[in-house]
Amino acid sequence: MVVTGIAPSIRKLVLEPYVQPPEEILPGQDTWYASTCRQCPAGCGIIVRVINGRAKKIEGNPLHPLNQGKLCARGQAGLQVLYHPDRLKNAVRQVGGRGSLQYEPLYWSEALDILTEKLESLSTPNRVAFLGGLLPSHLYILSTRLLNSIGAESPIIYDLHSALEGRYSTLKLSETLFGSPELPIYDLANAEVIYSFGANFLETWMSPVSQSHAYGNMRQGQFGGRGFLVQFEPRLSATAASADEWVPLKPGVEGYVALAIGRIIVEERLGNVGSHRPYAGLYQNIDVREMAAASQVPAEDLNRLARIFANADQAMAIPGGGLSGQSNGQASMLAIQTLNLLVAQFGKVGGIFLSQPGPTAAYRQNPKVDSFGNVTDLVDRMQAGEIDLLLVHGTNPVFELPASTGFAEAIARVPYVISFSSFVDETTMHADLVLPDHTYLESWGHEVPSPGSGKPTVSSQQPVVRPLYDTRSSADVFLAVAKRLGGEAAKALPWTDEVAFLQELADELHGSSLGAYDATTSNSFWALWRQYGGWWTEKEIPREPDLSAIPQDPLPITEPVYDGEEQDYPFHLHLYPSVTLSDGRGAHLPWLQGAPDPMTTATWGTWVELNPETASKLGVDDNDIVRVISPYGELEAPVVVYPGIRPDVVAIPVGQGHQQYGRFAQKRGSNPVALVSAITDSESGSLAWGATRVQIEATGRKEILPRLESLAGEGRESIG
Ligand code: SF4
Repeated sequence: MVVTGIAPSIRKLVLEPYVQPPEEILPGQDTWYASTCRQCPAGCGIIVRVINGRAKKIEGNPLHPLNQGKLCARGQAGLQVLYHPDRLKNAVRQVGGRGSLQYEPLYWSEALDILTEKLESLSTPNRVAFLGGLLPSHLYILSTRLLNSIGAESPIIYDLHSALEGRYSTLKLSETLFGSPELPIYDLANAEVIYSFGANFLETWMSPVSQSHAYGNMRQGQFGGRGFLVQFEPRLSATAASADEWVPLKPGVEGYVALAIGRIIVEERLGNVGSHRPYAGLYQNIDVREMAAASQVPAEDLNRLARIFANADQAMAIPGGGLSGQSNGQASMLAIQTLNLLVAQFGKVGGIFLSQPGPTAAYRQNPKVDSFGNVTDLVDRMQAGEIDLLLVHGTNPVFELPASTGFAEAIARVPYVISFSSFVDETTMHADLVLPDHTYLESWGHEVPSPGSGKPTVSSQQPVVRPLYDTRSSADVFLAVAKRLGGEAAKALPWTDEVAFLQELADELHGSSLGAYDATTSNSFWALWRQYGGWWTEKEIPREPDLSAIPQDPLPITEPVYDGEEQDYPFHLHLYPSVTLSDGRGAHLPWLQGAPDPMTTATWGTWVELNPETASKLGVDDNDIVRVISPYGELEAPVVVYPGIRPDVVAIPVGQGHQQYGRFAQKRGSNPVALVSAITDSESGSLAWGATRVQIEATGRKEILPRLESLAGEGRESIG
C-alpha cells in the first residue's frame, strides 16, 4: 500500500471504555513519573503527571540537583511532542523517490533487515557515516559501540543549537587551559560580579533553567550583596535586560575588551596582586588605548570595569554564545577565560569548577561534539561518492547548515539514507528509510548533564506512557541489528534490550556511599533510580581544574574577519536561538510558536530587529517588510523596531523557515541560516556563523507580525 503524506487516508475513531487498565493505574488517580527532559541538551529532571495512562502535565523534578523543580517553556511543551498529529507512526520506506513524501509502511523486522543488509554490504566500514545531534548518553554509547564493532567511525555529533552556544569552542578552550575537554560549571549563585560575554545564560545558553535558578539566588543577596552582572553583546537579550549594565559591543570585539580589562588589572596591580602576578606576562602585547579604539568602548569605561572586576571577592567572566560564532571566537574566549585566572576564581565558591567524575566515571562516555570542520569533511566525502550509507539521528542538517556547505546537494549523492526522526523534516524527506524513534516520554535512557551541577549527576529517563504508535527505540534498533550482524557487533552489544543495558549501568552506582540514596539489592536500587529520576551525590563535590599547564604565551590579538564588503553589506547579521523554538527543533509545537519572545513579544513568525536610527534611515517602521541580503542568500520578513540593538547590527531569531516538519512549522517564516557564510574560526574550526554582513532593502510591503504587546493588538487575527 502506498500512502501519500503519513496520515491514513481514512480516519476512523474508535471509542473504548477504560475497563482493563494496566495494573499500576487506578482510574481517575494521577501517578507522577520521574524522567529527563530532552527538549534541549541540558538534561533537566522532570516529573510527569499521568492519569489513566495519558501524560497530562510536565513539571520540574524538585529533587533533581540541576533544575531543582523548575522547568522552561520548552520543557513544558514536551507533551505536544508526544501527542503531535504529524508524528510518524511506524517505520516507512519512501517509494516515490526522495522528496516525494510517498511512504510505504514496513514491518519492523523488514526495516531491521534492510539496515542490517546495508551495513553488511558496505565494501569498507568507512563508507557508513552517522550524523547525530547531541544524543542522549545511552544512545551515544550504543551507537558508537555498534559502529566501532564493524570498524566504522564513531558518530559525528553536530547540530545548530550546539554551534550557537559555542559548545565545541568551549570544550576546545578547556582542553587548551585545563588539558581536559569539559564544559566548565560557573557557580553563578555565589558570584558577586559576573561579566558575561555573549552567553545568554538565562534563555538558551547551556543549562538555562539551572542557571536562572542560580542567578535568582545571586540576585537575592543571600551572601550579603545583590550581585552585579554586566552583559556584553550586540543585542539586548533577556539576560542583558536583567543585567545591571549592558555593553552593546560590535560583533567580534569581545576579546579586545577582555584583553584591555586584563591589562589594566595587571598593570595597575588591582585586586589581589598575588593571584595575577603569574599571568602578567600574558598581557605584554596589549595596549589599552588600542583596544579601546578597536572595541569602541571608552578607556574610562574599561578602567571602571577592570576595577569592579578585580576588587570583587567573587568575580567571574563567562565566554560563550554569540562571540563563539566569530572568526576570532577562540581567541576571544581565551582572553575572557583568562580574566578568571587573574582573580583566581577556579575551584572557588562563586567561581568556576569542573564536574567531578567520581563514581559516575562509568558514565563519562558522553557525546563528544564535533567541529564544523568534521562536518564539512563529511560533506566532501558525500560529494565525492565515498559514503554509501548515511544514518541521521537528532539533527536536521539540511535545515541547520548554511546552504553554502552544499549538504543538500551532497546528500543526493549518498546511495542510501536512513533517518531516525519522529517527524518528516527537511533532512528526513531525503531519507530512503525512516525508523522513527519513540519520543522521549515513551523512552528509556540516561543523561550525564554537561555542564552539570556541583553534585555529580546521572539523570535517568523512563517511559511515562506506553508508546502511542508502532515506533521503536533507536537503542533497541541498534541492539537488534547487532544481533543480526553477529560476530564483533553482537559481542559489543550483548544486552537483550536497552533496559538490560541501563540496569547494568545503574548497578555500577549501587553501593556508592556518596549517593543521595542507596538500597540493599540491585532491584530495589533500580526502583529508586527510576523513582528519583536518576542518581546524584548527597553533597556538592566541586573539582578544581588543573591549571598547571596554562600556556604562558602572550595573549594573541586576533582581528575579526567578516564576509561581505562593508560598502555593499553595511550591517552585521546577528542570529540568536529562539528561547522557545531553539534552533528550529521546537517550531513544530504550537505552544512554542504561540509563546511570545520575551523581548519583542512576537510570535508565529520571523522578524528583523532594527535599531530605531537604522529603521528611520531606511524609512521603515514596525511590520514593514524588508529584504535582508547577504552574499549567500536573501529573505524577507517584517521589521521590529528594537532600541536594544546597535545601529550597525541586524538581529534575526533562528528557528522558523521550515519547508517540512509538520503543519505548525512548515511554510512559516524564514530560515536566516540560509544567509550565513561558511567561513570558520581558523583556530577552532568552528563555523563563524556570526561573521556575515548583510544589506537591507525596504520592499514597500507590510505584514502585521503577531505580537502580544503591539499597540492596538493588531496582528492577532493573523495568528494560526
Ligand atoms: S533547559 Fe532544556 S532540558 Fe531543561 S527544561 Fe528547558 S528544554 Fe528541558
